[in-house]
Amino acid sequence: MGAVQVRGEVLSTRRTGEYHTLTIVAPGIADGARPGQFVALAVGGDHSAMLLRRAFSIYRVQERGIYGGTVEIVFSVHGKGTAWLASLHAHDPVDVVGPLGRPFALPREPVTVTLVGGGYGSAPLFTLAEQLRGRGCRVDFVIGAATEGRLFGALEAKRISTQVSITTEDGSLGEKGRVTDVLPSMLERSGAEPYPPPTRVAVTCSFGSANARPSGPTMSTGSCARSPASQAVPGPWTEKTISTVPP
Ligand SMILES: Cc1cc2nc3c(=O)[nH]c(=O)nc-3n(C[C@H](O)[C@H](O)[C@H](O)COP(=O)(O)OP(=O)(O)OC[C@H]3O[C@@H](n4cnc5c(N)ncnc54)[C@H](O)[C@@H]3O)c2cc1C
Repeated sequence: MGAVQVRGEVLSTRRTGEYHTLTIVAPGIADGARPGQFVALAVGGDHSAMLLRRAFSIYRVQERGIYGGTVEIVFSVHGKGTAWLASLHAHDPVDVVGPLGRPFALPREPVTVTLVGGGYGSAPLFTLAEQLRGRGCRVDFVIGAATEGRLFGALEAKRISTQVSITTEDGSLGEKGRVTDVLPSMLERSGAEPYPPPTRVAVTCSFGSANARPSGPTMSTGSCARSPASQAVPGPWTEKTISTVPP
């Protein structure tokens, strides 16, 4: 299904650590969204000078329900656009375009998958994990951030996965360091192997240091790791999967 533009409405807002979560009633978008896709939100209201939409990964969707389909996003405040989003309340209108971007590729076989996410980059991995588990895959997580407050989804990852490794750059929770520091030992323990090759292993990547200011968001390839037994399996694992990478 192609992207649509929807005049949505905020259903609810909540804070999780340093992140804001916004649930938006956006029926046409929720129906067609797949893990790994994102939405683009107009910011500032009808008479704003902020012409450019801001992009956010889809954290969760609810296709049906008493309010119609909803889309959930997770964000931290960076500049004027996200500050405006953080000021929204239930019932406020918000203009949304989506679903955009290429969804994650899914394996055909029940392989072992290690999902790696940093900061809000973990957000799109949870619907992916659910779909993988539905296909009989074992799902492990590596979740990282600069500080404990900037981790997203660590508890959720513990709840739904076989093995979880948490890293923070300041050592405030889990192992001190970056997600890439613990990835080799995680893969060794799970018996999974990087696939595609290591340069393309991460599904989503980590923040830089707490003080780092990026020149802009970048895109990365995914995904995962699969068990050696499945290496002969051709198919979507060879595809490039796209996800957002918080700088
Ligand atoms: C495909 C895609 C998916 C994304 N998903 C998410 C998401 O799920 N959650 C989320 O919070 N963000 C996400 N982003 C980044 C988000 O779009 C930007 O943070 C947002 O556009 C910032 O808008 P702003 O008006 O608040 O800041 P701007 O006015 O655009 O920028 C203000 C200042 O903040 C800096 N800045 C901008 N973006 C970031 C950033 N990501 N990290 C640190 N500093 C930044 C700028 O360099 C500038 O100095 C995504 C980006 C893309 C392209």
